[in-house]
Parts: sequence; structure tokens; C-alpha cells
Amino acid sequence: MSAPLAADYAAERAQLVEEVEATYAQTAALTGLRAMSPQVRAALGKVERHRFVPDSQRALAYRNHPLPIGAGQTISQPYIVALSTDLVAPRPGHRVLEVGTGSGYQAAMLAEIVGQVYTIELIADLGNAAAERLRALGYRNVEVRIGDGYAGWPEKAPFDGIVVTAAPPQVPQALVEQLKPGGRMVVPVGSSGAAQELLVITKRADGTTETRSVLPVRFVPLVPGK
Ligand code: SAH
Repeated sequence: MSAPLAADYAAERAQLVEEVEATYAQTAALTGLRAMSPQVRAALGKVERHRFVPDSQRALAYRNHPLPIGAGQTISQPYIVALSTDLVAPRPGHRVLEVGTGSGYQAAMLAEIVGQVYTIELIADLGNAAAERLRALGYRNVEVRIGDGYAGWPEKAPFDGIVVTAAPPQVPQALVEQLKPGGRMVVPVGSSGAAQELLVITKRADGTTETRSVLPVRFVPLVPGK
């Protein structure tokens, strides 16, 4: 069978934007955000999530759910990607680090808004496939590195924002150090079996930090690197 003419999934993507808006409204009491920012809404409506999932998952790409991407990993729920992007308060000139490249979808969302994205993936097959995908889609402002995200990316630090998309048991100190004063880190903290919470850590001008717990979440573990 040939592909349907509407294979760009524009209608499905527009529907997903409305579903994510509805989820923001439902969780506003926890997150403090009643609606997506205009730039996150625009990015969610633009980034082609169906290109970031395996062929077998394409029909489900615009459901507001996580999906398997191979190697036991998942592409996060679109609501969580949008929320994490809003919580890091991205601006056009920002340089942002992502830990846990996975499919490259969160990196693409950030790349629509900020100046430069650096993203680290532990599993070489996933990271290399994401780098190739992002290149093919025309994202010139994303650099992918294969390595251990617990160490961050000191050569490119400091960052205006850091988005961690896998859960460490505690906040990795190296990442706090690589944040600019005024910068924010969004990180799900907790062990894999137990409860995790999505934290927003803001670094003050004097280098001290302020932490806010936003909502309970479930992420794959940030695996200790070798
Ligand atoms: N942000 C991704 C989803 C990430 S799932 C997306 O948009 O598709 C979490 C990812 O973190 C997985 O790909 C996993 O391999 C990776 N990961 C786990 N431990 C890591 C570590 N120590 N350093 C870097 N990446 C890690």
C-alpha cells in the first residue's frame, strides 16, 4: 500500500497540541503553568514526532504517551517534553544541555527555541541514530555526544539551561556546577522503582541554588556510566 497523502500528520499534531494544553490546565495547580508558552506551543506544533519513533510506532506518534524507541528506552510523553521545555525557560540566545538524547525529540523541541543545544547519550546506537535524524531534518544547532551524562559536558559549559530526561537517584553535582548563574535545570530525581519528582533547580547570582518540586513523574533511570 502507498502512504496516505496526509502522511505529514499535520492534523494529528494539531490535535496533540490541544491535548497537551488540556493537560497543562489539569496540572496547573502543581506546575504553576496554566498554558504552554507561545514558543513551546509553536515547537510542539512543528516538530514531527512521527520521525523520531520506530516505524512500528508511527501510528501512535501523536498520542500523548511515551513510546518505546529500542534498547529498552522510551521517547517521553509529549506533555512532559513540553513542560520540561517550559520549565527551563528557554530564550533564543540560550545554550542548553540535554542529558539523555534518546530519539532526539526533546533536543529538536529545544533547538526550535534556543540558539544551541548540546545533548549527551550513553547508548551509542541511539545517540548516533538521533544525530543522523537531526541532521537529516535540518537541525544545525544540535551537537550530539556519546558519553556519560552524569559528568555533563564541561568543555561546553556553562549552560543557560539543562534538561535531564532520565532519572538519577540524586541531583548530579557536576550538572549543577555547569549551570550559569540565573540558569535553570529540570531533572527528574528518584530511584527507578520508587517515586520520582520533577525538580526545577535555579542557580542564583551568588552560586547558591533554589529547588522546587513540580510534580511526580516516571522516567527511565539515568544509568551510571562506565
Ligand atoms: N529525551 C529523549 C528520551 C530519553 S529516554 C527523547 O526525546 O527521545 C532517556 C535516555 O537517557 C535514554 O536514551 C538512555 O539511554 C539515556 N541515558 C541513560 N543513562 C544515561 C547517562 N548516564 N548518560 C547519558 N544518557 C543516558
